[in-house]
Amino acid sequence: MEAGETLTASGPCRIVRGMPGKWLRALCIALALACLAAGVDDKPPWRARRRPDVTHNQHAAERVKPEDWAPEPESPPVLDMELFTRAVAKLCVDPTPARARERAELIVKHAHANKLDPFLLGALVYRTSRCRSDKEELGGFGLTLLPPAMYQTGFRGRSYAYFVRDGSAWSERTIDFGRFAFGPGTLLRADSNLYFAAAMLAMWRDQHATVDSSFEQVPHRHFISHFIWGDKVKSARAEDRVLTDRRRLLEYYGSLPARSPLLYRGLSLGAPLDGAPRVVSSGIGFAREDGVRAHRGVDVESEFGEPVRAIEAGLVTFSGVDLPGQRNHEQFSIGETNSYDRKGMGHGGRYVCVQHTPSDGGFLRSCYMHLETVAVPYGNKVKRGDLIGTVGRTGMLRSAPHLHIELLGPDGLYDPAEILRGHLIGTPIEFDPPKKRRHKRLVVAAP
Ligand SMILES: [Zn+2]
Ligand SMILES: [Zn+2]
Repeated sequence: MEAGETLTASGPCRIVRGMPGKWLRALCIALALACLAAGVDDKPPWRARRRPDVTHNQHAAERVKPEDWAPEPESPPVLDMELFTRAVAKLCVDPTPARARERAELIVKHAHANKLDPFLLGALVYRTSRCRSDKEELGGFGLTLLPPAMYQTGFRGRSYAYFVRDGSAWSERTIDFGRFAFGPGTLLRADSNLYFAAAMLAMWRDQHATVDSSFEQVPHRHFISHFIWGDKVKSARAEDRVLTDRRRLLEYYGSLPARSPLLYRGLSLGAPLDGAPRVVSSGIGFAREDGVRAHRGVDVESEFGEPVRAIEAGLVTFSGVDLPGQRNHEQFSIGETNSYDRKGMGHGGRYVCVQHTPSDGGFLRSCYMHLETVAVPYGNKVKRGDLIGTVGRTGMLRSAPHLHIELLGPDGLYDPAEILRGHLIGTPIEFDPPKKRRHKRLVVAAP
C-alpha cells in the first residue's frame, strides 16, 4: 500500500465500488483483511518518499558527525515580532523592509499554527531558497523548495494521510489542507508555500520515531533532515546547515548567548562567521594544483554574501585584490577593490588582513580571502566582530563560495583549525591527493 490508502475496508473496496455481484463483495472483504494483516506487519505500509535529484556528498559527510555538535540553543519562549523581522531581513539580506516584514509574519503565522519553532522555519526558508519564493530546484518549488513528487502519493484530494507506528499496528493520521490545492502553482506563492511546508515539517516531527525505526538512516540529529531527504536520510549535513542558519537567526534576533572568545597569547579570538561553530571543509597543508602549492590556511563552509568578521581587534594591513607579482595592491580603496575585474585576480581574490598584537610580543595576522566585497579600508582600526567583508568566490576556479582564513605569525603560518577550535569544528578529508610529491609543508605548529 502507499501512503494515503486507508487500512479500513473502504480502501480496497473503492476499487470495486459499483461492480455487481456478491463474489466481488467477498473479494473486497478478503482484500481488506489482507490489507489489515499487512498493517500489523513490521514493514511500513507506504513506499519510501524521496526528493528527486538530491545527491549525497561523501567528502562533506566525513567532515563532521552528529556527535561533534553541542546541543542546539533554545528559541526564546515569547517572540518579539520586531526583532524577528529584523533578524529574518538580515539573514535573507532583504532589499526592502516591507518585503522582510511580510515574509517574517508569514513564517511566524504558519510556524505557530503547527506549533513549530519559527527560527527553524526561517532557517529552512533561507537555506533552501535563499528566501526567494520563485525558486525551483531539486524537484522543489518556492520558499522552502517543497517537492510535490515526494508527497503526491499521500494526497486524497486536499487531505494528506500518513502513518505512525502504534505498538504493533499502524495508525493513520490525516492533515486537512482546505485552503489551497497542493502543486507547483501554489508552492510558488509565499503564503501557500509556508502553509504546506510548516504542516509537512510538523508531520515529519510527528512521524519521526516511526520513519527512523522503519527505514535505513545515517545518524542524524533532527527531523528537519526528512524534509530534505524524505523517509531515508542519507547525510546529516543538510540539517547541519539548516541548524547553522537557525543559530545565525537567533544571533541576529539577540537571543543566542554570546560565545566566549578563545584566549590565545593574550588575545581574545572570536569567530570569523556568525552562528558558530562553523565547519572546516579543507585543512592547512592540503595540496593545491596537484601538489604544486600547499593550502596556506583553512576553508570554512559558508554562504555567498554572508558577513565575515574580524576575529580580534587590530589594524587593517591589507585591503584589496590579490595581484600576483605586484606590491602596491594594498593601496586600493574599497570602491576600487569591489569593482575590480575578477578575471585578473590571483588565488586569494579580494581579501583583507588584520594585524593583532599579542601580549607576548610579535604579531598575529589574520587574512580573509575570496571575499565578494571588502568593507574596511587599508589602515583602519577594527574591533573584534567588526564586519570586514562578505563571503564570495573571487580568485577561485571551481569551488563553491567559502571563506578562506589564514593566520600568520613571525615564525610562519599557524593552523586556524587549531587556534580557533571551538569556533571552527570538523576534520576535513583530503580527497584529491597530489599526483606529484607535495612541496614541504608550510605548516608551523602553533606555539
Ligand atoms: Zn530521522
Ligand atoms: Zn582555501
